[in-house]
Amino acid sequence: MNKSRKPYQLVSKEWQADDTILEVNGSHIGGSNFTLIAGPCAVENREQLGAIANYLSKKGVHFLRGGAFKPRTSPYSFQGLKEEGLKLLREVGDRNKLNIVTEVMGTETIDLVAEYADVLQVGTRNMQNYPLLKGLGKIDKPILLKRGMSCTVEEWLLAAEYIMVGGNPRVILCERGIRTFNKATRNTMDLGSMALVKTLTHLPVFADPSQGTGIRELVLPMTKAAIAAGADGAIVEVHNQPEEALSDGDQSLYFDQFDRLISACESYCQLEGKQFQISNPTSKTIQQN
Ligand code: PEP
Ligand code: MN
Repeated sequence: MNKSRKPYQLVSKEWQADDTILEVNGSHIGGSNFTLIAGPCAVENREQLGAIANYLSKKGVHFLRGGAFKPRTSPYSFQGLKEEGLKLLREVGDRNKLNIVTEVMGTETIDLVAEYADVLQVGTRNMQNYPLLKGLGKIDKPILLKRGMSCTVEEWLLAAEYIMVGGNPRVILCERGIRTFNKATRNTMDLGSMALVKTLTHLPVFADPSQGTGIRELVLPMTKAAIAAGADGAIVEVHNQPEEALSDGDQSLYFDQFDRLISACESYCQLEGKQFQISNPTSKTIQQN
């Protein structure tokens, strides 16, 4: 069993040298692929989600994000539409041929969220919720595991190990910024650790420049930086009316900013030898899955 001398085993490159490539309804995550997950911070209503999903599917994006269960710092803030939000995600996702990525906050809702989602997200606040991680080890859906805002790389990899040793090998790691003394950005994107993690694990590693910076103008440069640092994908918040958003409006991209992000991903993926997983590439040389 003890193939690696590190405290984690199954997640390590010593355990498995080849990159893990996850297949989700015909889309591929990991290996030489670069995948975008995009959508609002939270599902707010049918019109909002429909407008965003329609736009994203026209752009050729394969994964729609949106929180139905929202972990909010204040109990007075919008907490999400819960099951109604999950139903909307499924309905709108199916209509637009988009896979659904959404957060699961507790063990009691794992089965419910898994019924509607294609990928289940574990938020930063729950990265060390061990009963939740154990529960997610028992399901047959990929898990997007955000890095805890005050967690070390080792703690993050051990959290992924919990899911894998529980029986679910389909884990995606996601760097979303950590807490530092610097308050100029919402969090500090730790792309150095993200690049390091790529050398330690065979699992796909994503970047979340939206939570990572909290400032929409910084999402594009940090996505470029993440590709240069070896990211296998990015999860990005985009909204049809960011100024009206019920959560994280300041870090949500306008559609025209997202257009520019897609073009940049095409160029940067080419530079890095990554295949950008998008159905309508504007550049003819980009390969499709
Ligand atoms: C989110 O993706 O909207 C979110 C709440 O993420 P995190 O858990 O990384 O803060
Ligand atoms: Mn958010």
